[in-house]
Amino acid sequence: MLKHNLQELREWDRTIVWHAFTQMAEYEPFVIERAEGCTLVDIDGRRYLDGASSLWCNIHGHRHPKIDAAVREQLDKVAHVTNLGSSNPTTILLAKRLVDIAPPGLNHVFFSDDGATSVEVAIKMALQYWRQKTKGSGVFVWNGSSDASQKRLPTPLMEKTCYVALGEAYHGDTLGCVSVGGIEQFHATFRPLLFETLRVPTPDSYRMPDGVTPENVCQYHLDRLELVLAEHHDRIAALVMEPLVQAAAGMIMHPPGYLRGVRELTRKYDVLMIADEVAVGFGRTGRMFACEHEGVSPDLFCIAKGMTGGYLPMAATLATDEIWQAFLGTYSESKTFYHGHTYGGNPLGAAAALATLDVFEEERTLETLPAKMQRLDEHFARIARLPHVGDVRRRGMIAAVELVQDVASKEPYPWQERRGLRVCDHALTEGVWIRPLGNVVVILPPLAILLDEIDRMMGAIERGIAAATK
Ligand code: PLP
Repeated sequence: MLKHNLQELREWDRTIVWHAFTQMAEYEPFVIERAEGCTLVDIDGRRYLDGASSLWCNIHGHRHPKIDAAVREQLDKVAHVTNLGSSNPTTILLAKRLVDIAPPGLNHVFFSDDGATSVEVAIKMALQYWRQKTKGSGVFVWNGSSDASQKRLPTPLMEKTCYVALGEAYHGDTLGCVSVGGIEQFHATFRPLLFETLRVPTPDSYRMPDGVTPENVCQYHLDRLELVLAEHHDRIAALVMEPLVQAAAGMIMHPPGYLRGVRELTRKYDVLMIADEVAVGFGRTGRMFACEHEGVSPDLFCIAKGMTGGYLPMAATLATDEIWQAFLGTYSESKTFYHGHTYGGNPLGAAAALATLDVFEEERTLETLPAKMQRLDEHFARIARLPHVGDVRRRGMIAAVELVQDVASKEPYPWQERRGLRVCDHALTEGVWIRPLGNVVVILPPLAILLDEIDRMMGAIERGIAAATK
């Protein structure tokens, strides 16, 4: 039972809590008190289907008995152990399990606590890797002299300090992630604080440049990337990308073959590849990891969100033996990775993550997905015929509907009209919670969603689209 009256709670939510990515002057409280399976229940007892997986992270449904029990069991042992120089069995077991299921060659796990930190770690590891590979030490050493030149060890011949990222990339909101990010609306303000990133065009399968067709769009974008790598590879530390689907960019889906092509080019030009599977990992694309679809093993691999089934903040950056080796040495060689987060490798999170992986196996989650994808496609076949639907797209259990002003020219609606939001507002009145990305309606239920729940969700979305575009 809630102690405070509901009106008071709403008022404090509106005036004290500063919500992420939210214009607080317009915020309307949406306060969830509990959840079960794929259903959220608000403080008034209203029920909503969770069509956003609580922001990409819920996998097996809310309050899954197995995950609940694992967290409780861990609570009876220890809630937190720092991983700065110490450890605990649950976290060690999770590291081993992640190495076993990750793309081959990623044998080392650095834990942090959110998607952005996992990418930030990869960015910093890449830079320090090159520094140590080429000259032996990653740190600036001050010898007490006031002469600035004395503060550095000798500069390596080849200083790889810049990054390549895709157009409209989103990798999180810390400054390193914003530097590689490419969404003007989110990132432009912070430009004075950012480091250099070379950007290649978004390999969008829906909006293609003039003269580019679905048949040659992959090669077109790989050629653009090769131009950049050929010219700048000796100063590029890493390329960072979301494999297959660029989520926050508006569920942009890459053409088949692009991911594999990027891996080949990064190898050819001796540039590290960072695969950010924060959003697409843990079954979302129909396989455990998106990289599996094209047989790709990156050098650095970032995971978070679905890792604990949506229970606790936990993330990891996986690295190859070659990267790990470059950081080994005596303490005085200063090859240590001087980076860490207080809750990195937290045992409660690790317990939730191990249980999440157990449930994947026990409930054969990935095997249940084809029927759900087919059901989504059946609904899409109808929705695609609505007048202002420019594109319906799906990769595994990641689905989206893009609304446009004009289907033939793909002319978007002005973003200020918030057509996507109107669809979501309508769906909410039918007890379905989804979130938009501009004019794109995002459909992203927990993998545990049932077929009849898909029908309910898609029905509400279809009626929402009709209402928002009439
Ligand atoms: N990378 C990708 C691809 C994401 O979609 C996100 C968040 O949506 C992040 C990184 C950042 O994750 P977090 O919000 O957990 O910091």
